[in-house]
Amino acid sequence: MKILVINAGSSSLKYQLMDSESGYVIAKGLCERIGIDGAMTYKPTGKDPVKFNDTLKDHTEAIKLVINTLTDPEIGVVKSMAEIDAVGHRLVHGGEKFAKSVLITDEVLETVESLNSLAPLHNPANLMGVRACREIMPGVPMVAVFDTAFHQTMPREAFLYGLPYEAYTDHMVRRYGFHGTSHLYVSRRAIELLGKPAEETRVVTCHLGNGSSISAVKGGKSIDTSMGLTPLEGVPMGTRSGSIDPAIVTYLMDKLGLDAKGIDNYMNKKSGVMGISGVSSDFRDITAAAAEGNDRAKAALECFAYQVKKYIGAYSAAMGGVDAIVFTAGVGENHRGIREMVLTGLDYLGVDVDFEYNQSCPGGQEVELTKAGSKVKVFVIPTDEEMVIAQDTARLSAK
Ligand code: ADP
Repeated sequence: MKILVINAGSSSLKYQLMDSESGYVIAKGLCERIGIDGAMTYKPTGKDPVKFNDTLKDHTEAIKLVINTLTDPEIGVVKSMAEIDAVGHRLVHGGEKFAKSVLITDEVLETVESLNSLAPLHNPANLMGVRACREIMPGVPMVAVFDTAFHQTMPREAFLYGLPYEAYTDHMVRRYGFHGTSHLYVSRRAIELLGKPAEETRVVTCHLGNGSSISAVKGGKSIDTSMGLTPLEGVPMGTRSGSIDPAIVTYLMDKLGLDAKGIDNYMNKKSGVMGISGVSSDFRDITAAAAEGNDRAKAALECFAYQVKKYIGAYSAAMGGVDAIVFTAGVGENHRGIREMVLTGLDYLGVDVDFEYNQSCPGGQEVELTKAGSKVKVFVIPTDEEMVIAQDTARLSAK
């Protein structure tokens, strides 16, 4: 089936038309600056990319341009919209309401809307993408795939915070976790590579990118993950602080004269490896600065790698051992230095890394980093969230 995968943000919209059986990407692109001025890139596979500078007043205009381009007689890849079998939407927060992907109905949209307060930046933007598609493509089945869904198998001991129970029952405060589609994809692939029945496997998945999260996947199910109520918890990220002593929030509000919005911005936009290094949120820039002797840049890389290593230890303990550790996303797939820092000293777990190969292996490709006979395997597995979205969409819309 030909599936259009949509990932809508507040001012941007990523799209990809793919064949859900083969995984072949027919065309993909990005609409940007929606509501500001507007721009779109379009890349049919095997052909040159095309840039548009159309005005994109809103998400509906963006989707219109996407469909017009995909069906264009000259540069398009399908004859008409009728060739697009279904649309899969990435939605960030499904709360406790969605443990699986679902076919989108009015009722589903209302339920997602009721969760907006949990993801005020993401869910309303995702919904704008859904509504725009429904308007432009009436009658085409649409499926919602949630970032939180894979983690709904977490047991209570992993998802409850040490707060009054009413914070959970009355205000939905609990760990939800994110990047679920990625953790699902790479853990599934790691289980295949282990060649054991899924029920017998224990995998730690490290999604390390601009946003990062680590998950414990036991028997193919997520039993814990480092992000929490929001994507702010866990390891330090590009600009997000990750876990801190909660008392720092009021302490710094007082010291810096910040209100709630101000401290939220401070922790989400000014912290993490950017805040520590003072250089950039991009790991390539920080690594280059560290190589030139910038000590804060070095500290940022060390803090990041140390926290990832701590999660691997914690999750091995939580699962009673570990069979595979997986690295994925921009940093995990490409940053050899971070992988070396994380993996150094894990011999006690039974991890026998080929550090030379880690330095020489190709970036962004599936490889095994451990030596033959290593009790615990380490894999680099490029993530493919769009593939999961396309497959779920095909499966649910075919019924
Ligand atoms: P996002 O969370 O935005 O999807 P990505 O998964 O694309 O992020 O990861 C972006 C991060 O990956 C950036 O910090 C970038 O520096 C890092 N990265 C990408 N390619 C490389 C590379 N070749 N070497 C080191 N780091 C890389």
